This record gives sequence, C-alpha cells and structure tokens, in this order.
Amino acid sequence: MSAAIAVLNAGSSSIKFAVRESGADMPLLLRGQLEAIDVAPKLTVKDADGAVLLKQDFAASGFDHAEATRTIFATVQQQLAGRKVAAVGHRVVHGGMHYVEPVKVDAKVLSDLDALVSLAPLHQPHNIAPIRTLLEHLPTMPQVACFDTAFHAVQPPTARRYAIPRALTDEGVLRYGFHGLSYEYIARRLATVAPHLADARVIVAHLGNGASLCAMHAGKSVASTMGFTAVEGLMMGTRSGSIDPGVLIWLMDQKAMDVRAVEALLYKQSGLLGVSGISSDMRALRASAAPEAAEAIALFVYRVVREIGSMAAALGGIDALVFTAGIGENEADIRAEILVGCGWLGLSTDPILNAHPTGRISPQGATPEVWVVATDEERIIAEHTLGLLAGG
Ligand code: ADP
Repeated sequence: MSAAIAVLNAGSSSIKFAVRESGADMPLLLRGQLEAIDVAPKLTVKDADGAVLLKQDFAASGFDHAEATRTIFATVQQQLAGRKVAAVGHRVVHGGMHYVEPVKVDAKVLSDLDALVSLAPLHQPHNIAPIRTLLEHLPTMPQVACFDTAFHAVQPPTARRYAIPRALTDEGVLRYGFHGLSYEYIARRLATVAPHLADARVIVAHLGNGASLCAMHAGKSVASTMGFTAVEGLMMGTRSGSIDPGVLIWLMDQKAMDVRAVEALLYKQSGLLGVSGISSDMRALRASAAPEAAEAIALFVYRVVREIGSMAAALGGIDALVFTAGIGENEADIRAEILVGCGWLGLSTDPILNAHPTGRISPQGATPEVWVVATDEERIIAEHTLGLLAGG
C-alpha cells in the first residue's frame, strides 16, 4: 500500500484538509474540514466521492488551531486504516521576498514565516499554526510550505513596484500578488485541456470570497490585481479591493479611526457585505430582491470588467479569459454580465455552453476564447509536497 500526502489549508476559523495517495496520479483518498474552531468545532470527513465518513462535534472550551490540527491528524490516520502519512503540505499565504517556491519546513523556516505575519495578519498566523503544532508533536514528519505569493515572483520588476520612495520598496513593500496556488493549478490544467493556449496571453479570474485576476503569458504571471496585501484589486466578499488611500487618511483624521478599525473596515466590513448590507455571499445576494443586493452585484461586475481591461493592457492583448473559484465556476449570470462588459475586447459567450460549462464557453471558433476551469489548490500543494519529498 503506497503512503499518503496530507494537505492542510488553515484559515481563521476552519482547517480544510485533503489526503491523496502518493502515487503517480495522486488520487484523492479523503477530504474534509474542521470548522468553527473557536465557537462550535465540527469535524467532517468525506471520501473521494464526497460521501460523509464521519461527522463529530467537539466542546469549544480549550479548542484551538493546535487541538484542531492534532484532531485532524489522529482522525486521518484512523481513516487511512494502516496507510501511512508520508508528509504534510500547507497553504501559506505569504512567502515574502525570499520564499518564492515551496520549501521543506524546519525551525528556521518557521521563524522566517512568523516574521511575515505583519504582511498578512489575518491569514499568516492561522496558516502557520498547524506547522508549529506538527513540528512539536511529530518532529520527524516532513512538512512543506507552499506560498500563495510564489507564482507571481517572476513578474517584471515594474509590475511589482509601487510609486513610493525606493527605500520602502527595498524593504519589501512590493506588489506580491496572491491566489498563486490557484493560478498555478489553472496554468497546468490549461496546458492539458487547451494546449493551443500554451504560449498565449491569458487572464484568469479567481472569483471566490477572495477575488483577484492574474495576467499570464505562456503560463507565467505577468501582473495581478492583488498587491502588497490581499485587499488590493477587485471587490470581494467582505474586502473593499482598491480604494483611494485618501479615504483611509480621511477616516483616521476625521473619524478618529485607528489602524485596527481601518483594517476591520477594509477586510471584514466592506465588499459585497458592506455595499449590500445583506451578505458577503454571492448566492444570498442573487437570491435577494433588495436593490442594495443588485447594486453590490453590479459594482462587483463593474470592478471585474475594469480590471480585466487593466490586465489586458499589461499583456498587450488577450487570447483567453478563464473563470475559476466559487463565483467564477458556478455563477453563469455573473460570467455573462462580465463578458458583456468585456465585449469591446472581443470576448463573448455561447449561452448554452455558459449555462452548463465543461470547459470552453465562448462560441466555437471565436477569439479570444473564454473558459471555465475548476481550481484545486490542495492538489497543487500535494504535488509540490510529493515533489520535495522525492527530492530528499
Ligand atoms: P473561498 O475564497 O472561501 O475559497 P469560494 O471559492 O468557495 O471562496 O467562493 C465562495 C463564493 O462563491 C461565494 O460568494 C458563494 O456565494 C459563491 N458561489 C456561488 N455558487 C456557488 C456554489 N455552487 N458553490 C460554492 N460557492 C458558490
């Protein structure tokens, strides 16, 4: 029986996990999550077909990310019935200036990643909590950190620079870009399903709770809408996306908001939630008859359309647009509205293909092409983890 590779994707209130066989195609063995870690921890484990194998509730008192990690690990070992976990891969949002590819984690790497917490205060601490727990409890277990910033490290220096004093740029105040594991997966998948786009100029729209665009040329990142932090760019579920920095100065000056209040406003109270006053969830807004919900959706679409123009400019044209993530994969009407807004770029959709996408959704023979491709960040982490394990 071959060994298994476990992947942990730890967020602020949940840890998602997937376990794959360490063989050639890395078939999925288990998938699940431990959600509501601080309030009402609930573990769900499913098999590769999505059938529930286990659901278990835990008392919240004393439960934290460390306990959640130990619980997941013990449960996974049980469910694997004798198959051994050979390594654990982690999604880590920020690799900073130096970690530009996946890395085997040791105490030094962990302390470097700790030092990057201020660059992603809402994500990084949660991402690295399970790494620390496993280093303490299973010190011989190989662990690999895979970074959401890494895919963008090859962008041209001009694309990564802000127009600020260069001393700050030298210190690392750069446009890093995020969702890189998703974009890397899409680039690889596209090479299989659309090999004719191998050298093409492709814009990928990762539209989920977090949302960003990536301009890729020949599968490499050239520009992205997210920058120094994951709040720049598109409107998101609860994040504002790009906003005149003057607004922040005004809020601090006139509304006496401190840094934490501004942070909460930009990351948690804005976006679809802030504009609609109803929900951060696109499905809930689409189901609502409230005009505020329609306004929030219209602004979301408008921002995507404008930023697609910006990405097309960075690429000097566009050969294909790819939709992915929760909204990109599932919301046909949102895709259609975005494509209407991008008609000036020649983008269009076949309504029948768009309604039930299985790949290309632009009309046969039309260029630029438009595709829907499901993302799978956990698979790319599993592949990197296996790759580093094999590399010794
Ligand atoms: P995250 O950034 O949390 O991974 P997702 O990629 O799961 O986010 O996207 C979540 C968003 O996708 C929500 O706004 C949700 O309403 C929207 N969505 C629409 N249809 C679906 C669906 N069938 N499944 C999941 N999310 C969907």
